[in-house]
Amino acid sequence: MHTLLLASNNPGKIADFSALSSTTIVKLIPQAEFSVPEIAETGLSFVENALIKARHAAPFAPFPVLADDSGLMVEDLNGAPGLYSARFAGVQATDQENIEKLLQELAKVPNARRRAKFYCVVVLVRYPQDPAPLICEGTWEGEILTAPRGTLGFGYLPIFYSPQHQKSGAELTVEERTHSNHRRQAFNQLLKKYLSEHA
Ligand code: IMP
Repeated sequence: MHTLLLASNNPGKIADFSALSSTTIVKLIPQAEFSVPEIAETGLSFVENALIKARHAAPFAPFPVLADDSGLMVEDLNGAPGLYSARFAGVQATDQENIEKLLQELAKVPNARRRAKFYCVVVLVRYPQDPAPLICEGTWEGEILTAPRGTLGFGYLPIFYSPQHQKSGAELTVEERTHSNHRRQAFNQLLKKYLSEHA
């Protein structure tokens, strides 16, 4: 078994990663168990933010650290909310407030122009100053609904329609959504790279 620290306090992401790792030889321990405080995400890209979180958490535990930075990118809004997905409606915004703001911004946008994708980058640092972190990414393509649907999941899932599943993200169980989502793609690739170092 390989133990990794998971540099996230987001319950939705922790649920995804727990489902993703459950059938692997990797055990992920959420950073709260090592009292890692929050760190400001001041990067200008997903990969910078993921590395900020991973390097910040690394001194707190004797394990390599895995961090995720992710967001929703809407085509008609030139990729917004993107990097600012968690704080789209303000620094302390709730998922509900972020969803309402996005629906408002898209109020006059017809169905044909509501394409969007979730993007996720996952990084792994073996120690705080690791100069060669592992970096992998994944995407989940879909469309923004005109009203929320479903009660499962977190973030923007209630207004994200997945043509592949013919359901909103919040109508999928954690097992269904992590079967092939952005986080799954990034995690699987990263795991492959990491485990190849230990073969
Ligand atoms: P951050 O990576 O901590 O900056 O947060 C990204 C934000 O994007 C989350 O708080 C969610 O609002 C949204 N997000 C990222 N990935 C997902 C997902 O898989 N489902 C739903 N929302 C997501």
